Amino acid sequence: MLVIYANDYHLHVPKYEIYDGKKTPHAEQPDRIARIIESARTLDIDVREFNDPVPFEIVSKLHEKSYIDYLRNKCSEIRSEEQLMPSVFIKDTYTPLMRHTYEASLKSANLAVQGSKELKTGKQKVIYALCRPPGHHAEKDAMSGYCYFNNAALAANELSMGEKKVAILDIDYHHGNGTQKLFYDRNDVFYVSIHAEPEHAFPYSSGFADEKGANKGKGFNLNIPMPPETTPALYISNLEKALDSIKSFNPDYLVVSLGYDTYEDDPIGGLGIDEDSYKEISRVISGRGYPTLLIQEGGYNIEKLGVLSKNFMQCFTIT
Ligand SMILES: [Zn+2]
Repeated sequence: MLVIYANDYHLHVPKYEIYDGKKTPHAEQPDRIARIIESARTLDIDVREFNDPVPFEIVSKLHEKSYIDYLRNKCSEIRSEEQLMPSVFIKDTYTPLMRHTYEASLKSANLAVQGSKELKTGKQKVIYALCRPPGHHAEKDAMSGYCYFNNAALAANELSMGEKKVAILDIDYHHGNGTQKLFYDRNDVFYVSIHAEPEHAFPYSSGFADEKGANKGKGFNLNIPMPPETTPALYISNLEKALDSIKSFNPDYLVVSLGYDTYEDDPIGGLGIDEDSYKEISRVISGRGYPTLLIQEGGYNIEKLGVLSKNFMQCFTIT
């Protein structure tokens, strides 16, 4: 496994979100990535920093120019300690803009795309891109759920180029509404998500089992919503089902939207997954043997992220 991160991941530091009408300390903090990097180093995994300038064209393949321009221009107007809650191109009150949000998001997206390019060379079978901010809630012209650009979708798009078959397995606690929407009409990218039932969990408006894709993409979207009383055993059996459907699709590459917010004591998620079960989840996915790009999404128990990611990384071996 090769672990990669962007040098400026720590620049975006949101202060608060507005939850249930109240200002609440923001859960998506730079330390999340620092903890995973520490874990990778204790496992003697190769960790590489990306430090390249990034052209905005890297995100324009899936995002609207007017949206990209808005993010770039608005962020450049924000003073260093200021936080802005935009009123356009946004779907919630959790996703503020800071002075460095655009820059950090662009680098996060670039990291995912560079991970795809590296995977395509065939030198590595597994690449883990420590993207931050996360991406799977970002739509072509909308930010939400702490996400600005859709890292996993941009990576899958790069891997596919309309020629290769790519499966995205999304195991974040939350449904990846952005990723689903970006590929809903496409049959070259199969989106499969296991997540908390949208009746009880963000993003509330998508992630239902009857959303199966449209037009050419009909049958290439699979949602597996899980109830609040989910146990590790129930989760793993559904993960096997998700992987069986991916096997029928027969992809060239697998992209995993990896969230540790399914952990039982996650402050904003929690789907009954204990820390040891991340070893089993990791073995079950890697056992299928696909060349895999892991993309960091959520996971907000900062004290536990070290052990959760360590358990996952140490068991992710493809033979
Ligand atoms: Zn999440």
